[in-house]
Amino acid sequence: MEIKKMYEIAHEYQQRSYSPYSKYKVGCCVKDSNGKFYGGCNIENASYSPTICAERTAISKMVSEGNQLIDTILITGDSEFTYPCGVCRQVISEFSDENTKIIIAKNENEYREYKIKDLLPHGFNGDDIDV
Ligand SMILES: [Zn+2]
Repeated sequence: MEIKKMYEIAHEYQQRSYSPYSKYKVGCCVKDSNGKFYGGCNIENASYSPTICAERTAISKMVSEGNQLIDTILITGDSEFTYPCGVCRQVISEFSDENTKIIIAKNENEYREYKIKDLLPHGFNGDDIDV
């Protein structure tokens, strides 16, 4: 699953975090269904609302490069284990399937693995709109 490589990418991007307000740095690495990697960091804004999380930064890069399926997403942050916020869980859900792995990593050796159904049970998706 390449945890070590993905953690290194996420950790590198964590250092790039623009978080002058919260001082809370988050890094993310997405591996798409073709095996390509995308890094992301949180990018804050003085107006707060435009702030984007590391997960959505990396997923936006993946989608804009032409892939719409996350194989694995690894998240690391200033907490011991940094979990995605509700908005990011919804976005991860949009670009996941039942095999997508969500890794919450303290470091390359200590991590927890989930599926989207674990983090967003009874989530809202495209099937709900197709009435
Ligand atoms: Zn988020």
